[in-house]
Amino acid sequence: MNNEKVDIRKFSRDDLRTYFTNNGHQAFRGNQVYEWLWKKGAHSFDAMTNLSKDTRTFLDDHFVINHIQVDHMQRSKDGTIKNAVKLHDGLTVESVMIPTPTRTTACVSSQVGCSLNCEFCATARLKRMRNLNPDEIYDQVVAIDAQSRAYHSRPLSNIVFMGMGEPLMNYKNVLASIDKITGDDGLGMSPKRITLSTSGVPKMMKKLADDRPKFNLALSLHSAIDEKRVKIMPFNDQFPLDDIKEALKYWYEKTGTRVTYEYVVWKGINDTQEDVDALIKFCKIIPCKVNIIEYNSIDDARFEQASPKAIDLYQSQLEKNRVVVNVRRSRGKDIDAACGQLANKS
Ligand code: SAH
Repeated sequence: MNNEKVDIRKFSRDDLRTYFTNNGHQAFRGNQVYEWLWKKGAHSFDAMTNLSKDTRTFLDDHFVINHIQVDHMQRSKDGTIKNAVKLHDGLTVESVMIPTPTRTTACVSSQVGCSLNCEFCATARLKRMRNLNPDEIYDQVVAIDAQSRAYHSRPLSNIVFMGMGEPLMNYKNVLASIDKITGDDGLGMSPKRITLSTSGVPKMMKKLADDRPKFNLALSLHSAIDEKRVKIMPFNDQFPLDDIKEALKYWYEKTGTRVTYEYVVWKGINDTQEDVDALIKFCKIIPCKVNIIEYNSIDDARFEQASPKAIDLYQSQLEKNRVVVNVRRSRGKDIDAACGQLANKS
């Protein structure tokens, strides 16, 4: 190894064991280090107190832990916390802690910026700089777990991949992070409490289905009519709804689990009976649930939250057709921490 230090979290448990034995140490030291890294989220070798000072110095001479730094924290009136997360190369992403009376949800980022171009989303205005590494996603979770313990005296209960980026365009790293978050030799959280949200990348949805994940899938739908969806989510011309439908069927065949459709209703965009009918039809493809989410303003005159009457229309007609529907209120709006507002403003 040359004098360039290596990111230790790129190595598997076996790699670490081998590394130790090759360097005249006992293999179980590799297990100890692995535990410090992935079970306890250690930020430094110095924290690894069951290793001798010499071993810690040895590690420090050869490796780095590219830990994130929560650079800045904003707390909303409703208790939501937005973190500006600084990465080892100086780039920044955001993550959000969302508390309710019974649970704490972490909303984590998967990419720096985003390559998709949803017209209504603030993150889309940032260029995609790079994918996050598994450890950088894991670190966001550990940091929010600590915040939940500090502010609410309870551990983190849920995780949503609904921060910056398109998780299915950083497939390998996102799945590796979930392994560390759910694994027995990681944080041991239940995958049932994790939701990955995608804008709808059919090929990757199928790949995910093949990998039989144990976590939940959400699709940001917003319109079940191609000509309308392409106007608000221009990449829909490459990934039209027919392909998404096929991917959803494939998902359900392989996993047997329903998908949540996220849906914002905007004035003059998707607030007519025709839009509701199209959504109801779309909901017949596979078992699903619809979350109607509030529009969070990003200062774009084209977009305005639809009237309560339009939302009621969606809700009542979906219910009439026996589709499970939730109307969600946004959290953390006063600090630009709500869905689609993450844009590294601070
Ligand atoms: N790229 C993935 C992950 C981001 S999740 C995806 O699109 O699913 C962010 C969620 O917030 C998505 O459902 C997105 O459509 C929604 N969203 C984006 N901008 C929003 C806004 N201004 N108001 C409300 N929701 C928004």
